[in-house]
Amino acid sequence: MTILDGKALSNKVKEEIKKETDELKKEGIIPGLAVVLVGSDPASQTYVASKEKSCTAAGIFSEKITMNEDATEERLLDRIAKLNADDSIHGILVQLPLPEHIDTAKVLEAIDPKKDVDGFHVSNVGQLVTGEPTLVPCTPLGVMRILKEYGIDPMGMDACVVGVSNIVGKPMTNLLINARATVTVCHSKTKDLKAHTSRADLLIVGVGIPHMIKPDMVKEGAVVIDIGINRMTWGKYEGKLVGDIDFETVADKCSFITPVPGGVGPMTIAMLLKNTLSAAKMSVNK
Ligand code: NAP
Repeated sequence: MTILDGKALSNKVKEEIKKETDELKKEGIIPGLAVVLVGSDPASQTYVASKEKSCTAAGIFSEKITMNEDATEERLLDRIAKLNADDSIHGILVQLPLPEHIDTAKVLEAIDPKKDVDGFHVSNVGQLVTGEPTLVPCTPLGVMRILKEYGIDPMGMDACVVGVSNIVGKPMTNLLINARATVTVCHSKTKDLKAHTSRADLLIVGVGIPHMIKPDMVKEGAVVIDIGINRMTWGKYEGKLVGDIDFETVADKCSFITPVPGGVGPMTIAMLLKNTLSAAKMSVNK
């Protein structure tokens, strides 16, 4: 069994990005990312701070825009319009979730698709589905990068994706289809989850239920990717982050498995930097 080390790979990717940003700077282009945070959700603040830190380390200019919890949708849309028109900004990320009085879909659609480094705009979603090159959501993109790094080609594999959110499961499914895996997709209404997961050569889980995948749900020799991140508030793992896979009992059955933490999580930020670099290059047709 091999542990897929997303932490080490993310550092490697970040170094590659730094080299590329250094090259671009010689031509007078500094990739720029704007991160918009509405409200004061502590988890969102932590994510935004770590995104800013990673940008700086990779030579990417980052601008943090904070708005009060009660900011109107109109003000937010106005701010996004200004960022769309700002040539020093190549990527725009609106930290989710937004307060309830704001229409998230409307806000995401207001971002210029060429600056949509989260890959959530319908135009980019459409291009992913049709197999066109585009900005792709960071977490599933990070999963594909891990697979590539370890020489795991999804082509022809029986893959099972558990979870169908717009940010994780659906784009993951489309990337696997584009890579010509045979994909089974499961969600909360799937009748017999185990019947599907236990047939998979490649099992990718992004649900948000700690340790939901047990050894009897996994095929011997499978490649298992754990996207779930759950902070435990009770029991043996109190205060720790755990995934959706019961790593301790499942790992021995796998050929490859991602840990939590240190698996998919660090790759998500690395892919955000990568998307920002791609958007900057696209802006000058590189
Ligand atoms: P989400 O929007 O809540 O979606 C969860 C998905 O799981 C839904 O599609 C849901 O099905 C499905 N589901 C719920 N219960 C299920 C069950 N018993 N059996 C099978 N499927 C079930 O969550 P998300 O935003 O996609 O995030 C999922 C997990 O990934 C969370 O732990 C989150 O923290 C983590 N995450 C990690 C990263 C990273 O960087 N590693 C990034 C994003 C998210 P329905 O659609 O039918 O309700």
